[in-house]
Amino acid sequence: MAADEKEEARLRALRELNLLDTAPSESFDRITRLAAQFFETPISAVSLTDVDRQWFKSRVGCGPQIPREHAPCAEVTRAGDVLVVSDLAQDPRFNKGVLVENGVRFYAGAPLVTKEGFTLGSMCVLDTVPREIGQDDEKALCDLAAMVMTQIEMQHAFGRIDPVSGLPNRMQFTENLEDMARDFAGERRLAILLDLAPPNQIVQALRVLGPTYLDDLMRLSVEGVRNLKVEGHTVYQVGGAQLLAVIGDADEERVEVELVKRLNMLADFSRGRRAASLSHMACGIAPFVLGEAEASDVLRAAHHAAQDARESDRVVGIYSAATDEEHKRRYALIAALRELLERGGDGELSLVYQPRIDLKTGRCYGAEALLRWDHPEYGSVSPAEFIPLAEQTDLMRPLTSWVKLRAIAQLRAWRDEGYDLRVSINVSAANLEEEEFGLRLASVLAENGVSPSCLEIEFTESTFISNRRRVVKNLTDIRELGVVCAIDDFGTGYSTFSYLHDFPADIIKIDQTFIRKLEPGSRGSVLVQSLIHMAGALGYRVVAEGVETQDVADFLIEAGCHEGQGYLFSRPLPPEAFADWLKSHAAERLEGYAA
Ligand code: C2E
Ligand code: MG
Ligand code: MG
Repeated sequence: MAADEKEEARLRALRELNLLDTAPSESFDRITRLAAQFFETPISAVSLTDVDRQWFKSRVGCGPQIPREHAPCAEVTRAGDVLVVSDLAQDPRFNKGVLVENGVRFYAGAPLVTKEGFTLGSMCVLDTVPREIGQDDEKALCDLAAMVMTQIEMQHAFGRIDPVSGLPNRMQFTENLEDMARDFAGERRLAILLDLAPPNQIVQALRVLGPTYLDDLMRLSVEGVRNLKVEGHTVYQVGGAQLLAVIGDADEERVEVELVKRLNMLADFSRGRRAASLSHMACGIAPFVLGEAEASDVLRAAHHAAQDARESDRVVGIYSAATDEEHKRRYALIAALRELLERGGDGELSLVYQPRIDLKTGRCYGAEALLRWDHPEYGSVSPAEFIPLAEQTDLMRPLTSWVKLRAIAQLRAWRDEGYDLRVSINVSAANLEEEEFGLRLASVLAENGVSPSCLEIEFTESTFISNRRRVVKNLTDIRELGVVCAIDDFGTGYSTFSYLHDFPADIIKIDQTFIRKLEPGSRGSVLVQSLIHMAGALGYRVVAEGVETQDVADFLIEAGCHEGQGYLFSRPLPPEAFADWLKSHAAERLEGYAA
């Protein structure tokens, strides 16, 4: 191979190792310190030979790089052999170099050779006075060079470096944290996690921009972070779009102020550069004590702080044990719900029924089935808490399935007792995205001998719909069966009117926030009046939720609203209590007519 080609292949091998311009690493620094101690020299370095510079992966007593020209390390790389120069000033090859200019006189370097035989650079020790070393010392230097190579190869063999960003990964972080805990046990540190983009943005961008989006985002942020000149701190890539650094003990609030400034610089840096954008970053600060916290605890706390910042529209968040408790509760609830559903759900889950009243006649046509969860430890958990959690997981399918089976069985039982009722159940957008949801509903109805027209499904607007076509198909199937479809909590979502346009439904349930505090004559009342008018004109049956007072009921009747549901009539009741309520309600109505 010609010399040029050989050098090209060597540079390629060096590049592939992703070592150049990476952050310092304790595993290399330990060897460099050892070298300086052993040789009693003020300077030592792991020096890599790049195209025109010697770049120091690890160093004691010197700057980050020197020109390749006249550098003794470059000679080690060229010759692939140990080089000892007792006095650089006396050697015509090196006496014009920056080392001599800066007062360095002695040099000894051992080559860093890969298994494939490429010399990457040298493990070297330098002194400001001329000196001699013996053969044993040369051997020791070669041993240190071999240790450096083992470290480099291990990092690669065990996947400690991310191939795209070139940053040490989570495994390396875990290892380094263990090292730090050994050396500095009991000292306080701050972990800083930078979450580059929210998950939904990543999903969308991956769809639109393709699979290289994440790589671009990561490269851009690595470049940006390097631009911030955070030298002296190792930056790890701990997730697909997450960077982490550990800094010394400091006041969290001060660090927060500094970080906000730096993140603004980072966002400015990224603006308009590439398809990837860094304008939705969130950063979390988590203090911890070395030796007390495991790597997974540190990551979770820092991640949690970043999430917290994102949820409250801030850029930087500091870990808080209080909000972490909330998160832990959420995790615990989800885990408990999963386990409960695997056991069939019985015992802790139940349905309560809230009457729906025809406002004109006062008659109770039916009821909405609402889920209750009585947890042995947490007590009664509101569906307003656990349904949104379940909606972020795959649990909505078994949960709705449980509700569907119980509600339809109850409907059967009531009809057998002679009650002519309709029951509505709540389903999530995720359920309507299930394949053949409508068909499965039909078979449960048929098994129980319940007419589809006795069942209603309520669904809310959701930003999570990813397969609109399937939702529309299911709704169409369900309506063709004869099951009634209602849009729940109307008026609260993001796309209320487009929902009416896109999704087939028979009923609109106006959200209780509009109804509960309704004052006749107010702006709110005009809004409700118009909603009722519009929905009626479009052919929907209109239900008002959260009717708490007779005044509101009177107003709704006047406005032409068809049905009402709320505490004025009844709170949600267990099945037996509901049957009792029905009887007394019917009796009251008869009395009302008789009077
Ligand atoms: P939703 O479907 O809009 O149900 C109405 C909620 O309003 C119920 O709360 C009900 O108890 C409450 N409510 C009814 N009348 C009044 C009133 O006059 N005043 C006030 N302040 N509140 C009233 P709940 O039972 O806590 O359920 C909350 C939400 O949880 C439900 O809102 C529904 O979105 C969801 N949910 C409940 N059960 C299920 C279920 O089986 N499946 C699904 N997917 N979601 C459910
Ligand atoms: Mg509902
Ligand atoms: Mg509602």
